[in-house]
Amino acid sequence: VEAAVKAAKDAFRLWSSRSPLERSQILNKLADLIEQDLEAFAQAESKDQGKTVKFARTVDIPRAVQNFRFFASSILHHVTECTEMPAMGCVHYTSRAPVGVAGLISPWNLPLYLLTWKIAPAIACGNTVVAKPSEMTSVTAWMMCKLMEKAGVPPGVVNVVFGTGAKAGEALVCHPDVPLISFTGSTLTAQRITEKSAPHCKRLSLELGGKNPAIIFDDADLSQCIPTTVRSSFANQGEICLCTSRIFVQRGIYNEFLKKFVAETKKWNTGHPSDPTVDIGALISKEHLEKVRNYVKKAQAEGARVLCGEGVDSLALPPGNQKGYFMLPTVIAEVKDESCCMQEEIFGPVTCVVAFDTEEEVIERANGVKYGLAATVWSRNVGRVHRVAHRLQCGLVWTNCWLVRDLNLPFGGMKASGIGREGAKDSYEFFTEVKTITIKH
Ligand code: NAD
Repeated sequence: VEAAVKAAKDAFRLWSSRSPLERSQILNKLADLIEQDLEAFAQAESKDQGKTVKFARTVDIPRAVQNFRFFASSILHHVTECTEMPAMGCVHYTSRAPVGVAGLISPWNLPLYLLTWKIAPAIACGNTVVAKPSEMTSVTAWMMCKLMEKAGVPPGVVNVVFGTGAKAGEALVCHPDVPLISFTGSTLTAQRITEKSAPHCKRLSLELGGKNPAIIFDDADLSQCIPTTVRSSFANQGEICLCTSRIFVQRGIYNEFLKKFVAETKKWNTGHPSDPTVDIGALISKEHLEKVRNYVKKAQAEGARVLCGEGVDSLALPPGNQKGYFMLPTVIAEVKDESCCMQEEIFGPVTCVVAFDTEEEVIERANGVKYGLAATVWSRNVGRVHRVAHRLQCGLVWTNCWLVRDLNLPFGGMKASGIGREGAKDSYEFFTEVKTITIKH
């Protein structure tokens, strides 16, 4: 970390003085190079993380490419503010400059996708970076490093350190020459990062966990809602911060929903990550699998009903994978709102379904957790989706869809799900320092 920060510091003056257009061309070149190796990156991401090759090929790696292309383009289009005070003979304007060495720390669930979501805006704005991928999933970060020189990224601009959170992560957070930290990971780690960085008054962007509700009203189009909610619950083994884990269904359609939802869930195959017919690969680690399984056991002990998956259905794995960390998608019903399964982030292929009666009641229950990242609302009533969306305490609300993202707009959570937002304008503001200049003429 010490050597990486020094290299980044030394490279800052030249990199920050390059024009946005020059930086943009390099980012685009890097995107092209990753795209040329897309298949190799997808295979490596799957092997390292356990996700299906299909998911890495269609989501993780294309999005990493898009992150570079997006910020290569958006950096060319920012404008700063200007105001006039004719009576005083003054013009005010703002100027934005890169901050310096950015510390970037990312988790294991979407390894290259989330790391590049930070590297791209940071260097597009003229910062240099020290990035630390998760120690569980560092392979694609290493592969990307090897493309930097070919893309024309000058030495020292992007430094990647490989190591654990406690050692490498904390050294980065505590380094006096790293004025800003962009972190994606768990709320617990964010608390530690906040404490450790406080003596340095660092600028922090924290993208954390979620306990995301889906609210399904009785006028929802179930033909769209059910497959999308199965996907939002189980995509990437449920290891996405935006995954749905609490499904509130209006009582009139509760039984019909449950029946169809379980039938749809059972269509999802769990197995070898490179099998194209498989939808759910392996979980990240043995410890994580145990943790996720324990939540299901706790729910059962509390009297909830497991409708499919863990402990109910048998999982037929190919002979070579029987000791792997696989788990069937699991649907639990009749869970109490105060249960840990309805309050804590499980981050695995487990979702809870409960009934509700009124709009007022469901808003209160959906907001009744410490997290506030994302929600989905399903209804054909336009007035209602607006009303509910406005009252939900979370940073993102999708109505009648899930995970449709425009990278221009803010991404981030409320409450224990984070501090700050990232996106075209938000990342630009986070990764630059603003100055107000007044000229009297
Ligand atoms: P984690 O907090 O354990 O680790 C995240 C990163 O922080 C890793 O690189 C780790 O090495 C590092 N780290 C750990 N301790 C550290 C310390 N003391 N100082 C500095 N760095 C440290 O999280 P995880 O288990 O890798 O990821 C899963 C979590 O990430 C879930 O809670 C999930 O919701 C969250 N997540 C959030 C988003 C989002 O955008 N909001 C996206 C993906 C994942």
